[in-house]
Amino acid sequence: MSAEIAVAVLACMLRYDLHCHSTHSDGLLTPAQVVRRAAQRGVDVLALTDHDEVSGLAEARAQAHELGLRLIDGVELSVTWRDLTLHVLGLRIDPGCPVLRDGLTAIREGRAGRARRIGDALAVAGIRDAYEGARKYVTSERLISRTHFARYLVEAGHAREMKDVFRRYLVPGKPGHVAHQWACLPDAITWIHTAGGHAVLAHPGRYKVSAAGRRDLLAEFHDAAGDGIEVLSPSHSRAQVDEFARQARAFGLLASSGSDYHGAGESYVDLGDMPPLPDDLVPVWQSW
Ligand code: AMP
Ligand code: MN
Ligand code: MN
Ligand code: MN
Repeated sequence: MSAEIAVAVLACMLRYDLHCHSTHSDGLLTPAQVVRRAAQRGVDVLALTDHDEVSGLAEARAQAHELGLRLIDGVELSVTWRDLTLHVLGLRIDPGCPVLRDGLTAIREGRAGRARRIGDALAVAGIRDAYEGARKYVTSERLISRTHFARYLVEAGHAREMKDVFRRYLVPGKPGHVAHQWACLPDAITWIHTAGGHAVLAHPGRYKVSAAGRRDLLAEFHDAAGDGIEVLSPSHSRAQVDEFARQARAFGLLASSGSDYHGAGESYVDLGDMPPLPDDLVPVWQSW
C-alpha cells in the first residue's frame, strides 16, 4: 500500500463529529465536558460549534490537547434568508479573526433585544416573567437563545418537553415568536472565509421551504461561495440524506456530518453517533 493510500484509509476510519454545543451557547455541558464525552465515545475529530460564539473554544482546545482528540474551531452563525432563519457552520475558522468576531458580536447583541421581545410577546399571551425565567437558564452572560426560554417554559409547566414548547410557543405563528433580522447570507459566508474557514449550510432539511425554495437556497448558497452542506444531521430522514447527498453532487458542494449534540435529555443522537457519509461525497475535512 502506498503512503498516500494508507493516509487516505486511515482518514476514512476516523470518527468525525462537526457540530455540537456547549454552555457558551445553549448546550448543557461545558466545553471541557463536551470534549471529554466526545473522547469517551470514540470521536477522533470534533468541532465545537456554539451559536454565534467562539468563547468556548480555548477551554475545549486545552481539554482536547490533553486527551489527544483533534479539535476543529467552529461556530454556528444565525442568518436571515428571505423570511427564514438559517444556520451556517464555520469550520476550521480562526477564532481570533476581527472580522468574524465583530460579526458575531453584532448577532449576539441582536439576541439580547430579541429576548426582551420574546418575553413581552409571551406576557401578552398570559405567560408573565418568561424573560426572567429564561435568564435563570442562561449559562453565558454573552448569549441568550430560545432554548433558554424553552427550558423555563417546561419548568413552569407550559409544556412537558422541549419540542412541545417550540411547537406551541416559539415558532412562527405562535405566541412567543418574534420576527428577527440575523446576519445576511453573503456577510456570514464572507466572515467565515475571512477567518479562513469553510462555510457549511447546517441541517438543510430543517428549513420550512418548498422544494423549489430549497433549490434556490442551495443555488444562492453556492453562488455566495458557500463550501458545503451538512448532509448527515439528526434532523434528516433517510430520504433527506439521499436528497442532500444528490444536491451536494449536483452543486459540487463538500459534505459534512454532525450530531448537533446539546446535552443529555435534549438530543436523541449522542456525540459521534452519526453513520459514515456516503462514500462518493467529498467530505469537508478532505483538505484538512
Ligand atoms: P435561537 O437560535 O435562539 O433561535 O434558538 C435555536 C435553538 O433552539 C436551536 O439551536 C435548538 O437548539 C433549539 N430548537 C429549535 N427548535 C427546536 C425544537 N423543535 N425542539 C428542541 N429544540 C429546538
Ligand atoms: Mn441550539
Ligand atoms: Mn442549528
Ligand atoms: Mn446546532
